[in-house]
Amino acid sequence: VEPGTPVLFDTHAHLTHADFAGDLPEVLARARAAGVRYILNAGWDLASSAEAVALADPARGRYAAVGIHPHEAARAPADWRERLEELAGRPGVVALGEIGLDYHYDFSPRPLQQRLFAAQLALAGELELPVLVHDREAHADTLAVLRREADRRGGGRVRGVMHCYSGSRERAPELLGLGLWLGLGGPLTFANARRAVEVASAAPLAALLLETDCPYLAPGPYRGRRNEPAYLVRVAEALAAARGLTVAEVAEATTANAWRMLGGMTHLAE
Ligand SMILES: [Zn+2]
Repeated sequence: VEPGTPVLFDTHAHLTHADFAGDLPEVLARARAAGVRYILNAGWDLASSAEAVALADPARGRYAAVGIHPHEAARAPADWRERLEELAGRPGVVALGEIGLDYHYDFSPRPLQQRLFAAQLALAGELELPVLVHDREAHADTLAVLRREADRRGGGRVRGVMHCYSGSRERAPELLGLGLWLGLGGPLTFANARRAVEVASAAPLAALLLETDCPYLAPGPYRGRRNEPAYLVRVAEALAAARGLTVAEVAEATTANAWRMLGGMTHLAE
């Protein structure tokens, strides 16, 4: 790494995806060279969660999130809770994810998605872990499930991140009020990213995290190709441009934000 390279945290990656099976060491080397020193890999079912745990290596900046994606809700085994809890206790696991609702594909029945999402949020609360939330075309129900969990916990908050936040600027304050951060990724760099740029420029910098969601959602110059953590620099550049900051300032703030989110702190003024 060149001296002075900004230190970035990719808070949502899927390096256990089959797309990386052929060249993972090179992908990790390019991430390091680009300044992406920390990577949080999220599982989407029990098998990929176990793989994310196996790939975790905190000494090398690699962490794991374990969880069952709404796409997989219908295939979750009866004993998913015990198995997920066991995985969550392994070294390097810092979050539950990715979990949530997906009404775009509807691969699993919506009531089932909602029950699994709520149950995983409750488990995260018990384990005192933050959550990585997936919400695709399910804004109202995602918010409702999060609110119920926040009420259930008594403190009115659910710690975690709205991954690849695709909602409006107007909706953001509600999520921030629930104790959530907003994850920004490749879509921020797209030519038609008006809404994402609005959120990126209007939300408090303290509430923003950077993520690739690789192998999906490659940023502008690589759109349509396999995404990888090294490309996170493009997202940092887009956020810097949206806020009139330098990439170094964006890197410093968002990496600190990621540690606050994972460390149980809050972006809200107490
Ligand atoms: Zn993802």
